[in-house]
Amino acid sequence: MRGRRMAVLNSCLMISPHLDTSPADSGVYRTLLESTRAIPWRIDWATMQFTYIGPQIEALLGWSQSSWLSVNDWAERIHEEDRQRTVDFCVSQSQQGVDHEADYRALTPDGDYVWIRDVVHVVRREDGSVEALVGFMFDITERKQAEDKILQLQRELEVLSYRDSLTGVANRRMFDTLYPVEWAKAQASREPLSLLVIDIDYFKQYNDHYGHVQGDECLRRVAEALDTGASRARDLCARFGGEEFILLLPATDENAARNVAERCRKLLAHKELPHARSGVGRLVTVSVGAGTIVPGAKDDPNIFLDRVDRRLYQAKSAGRDQICDVEA
Ligand code: GH3
Ligand code: MG
Ligand code: MG
Repeated sequence: MRGRRMAVLNSCLMISPHLDTSPADSGVYRTLLESTRAIPWRIDWATMQFTYIGPQIEALLGWSQSSWLSVNDWAERIHEEDRQRTVDFCVSQSQQGVDHEADYRALTPDGDYVWIRDVVHVVRREDGSVEALVGFMFDITERKQAEDKILQLQRELEVLSYRDSLTGVANRRMFDTLYPVEWAKAQASREPLSLLVIDIDYFKQYNDHYGHVQGDECLRRVAEALDTGASRARDLCARFGGEEFILLLPATDENAARNVAERCRKLLAHKELPHARSGVGRLVTVSVGAGTIVPGAKDDPNIFLDRVDRRLYQAKSAGRDQICDVEA
């Protein structure tokens, strides 16, 4: 066993044949291999038995060195979710004689797991046939945790980058992303798509009178009302910029769009936000441009958006605090 073990350790280190591997040197290599944090192992290809595994395995995974007998022990100690793909991959690579690496979760006796990177080298005889597999197991748990953390942060950042930080509703970027998607869906399904472009009335005066901090709070409250008004799952309420919002309403016809607009205005009215300098009343109000389209192949989403935007200005010039859903 000892001679065989040394041969394995030597091949693990890929010692070139011209090196003198006297017993003294072998002792050095063995010490090196058994003290490193990477765990060396060797599997005999013909019998599929472990002929060596570093004693460090016990400290890492909790299974004793002597309990690693065959590849089955290895496979059974892989996390259920990783087992099949890991075994299939390693077997197929080994059969093809290809060196490979596999990341998987190795189980501990108490049901916990450790992320392992197994780096596998296929040892061949002079005639090319496979003699053994040798490899190193590395503990990559910390790296995996860091990667998971980065992924989670990326996801959070992505969510944040589509949110308007002041009001918490979607931002312009989100609208710009979803509008073409919903447009294409409406084209394909021949369902009507509606847009509401909404602007707060006399908001400059509001800011001048109450100050910017209060102005920001007002924007939040208006956004809240509009977001509640656009209540269906696919509806989108986005802050378009400044004190302007846009509601993207898929599968919504003219009547339904008007109902949404009315509901938004009602929800806002119920908030009873005072506006001492408004030209249309005592409360904060909005003007709405509304439009509905079943987009055909020749229609352009930007032209439709412009049309709805013009209706907003019609609502403004007609006296504000109202909905305009027809062309002048
Ligand atoms: P109209 O009824 O015609 O819409 O008049 P208006 O005063 O609402 O429109 P105008 O475009 O003249 O002014 C918009 C104001 O909105 C001016 C700007 O200071 C304010 N505003 C834009 N973004 C913000 C913001 O993030 N916070 C605050 N507090 N005010 C904002
Ligand atoms: Mg305004
Ligand atoms: Mg405006």
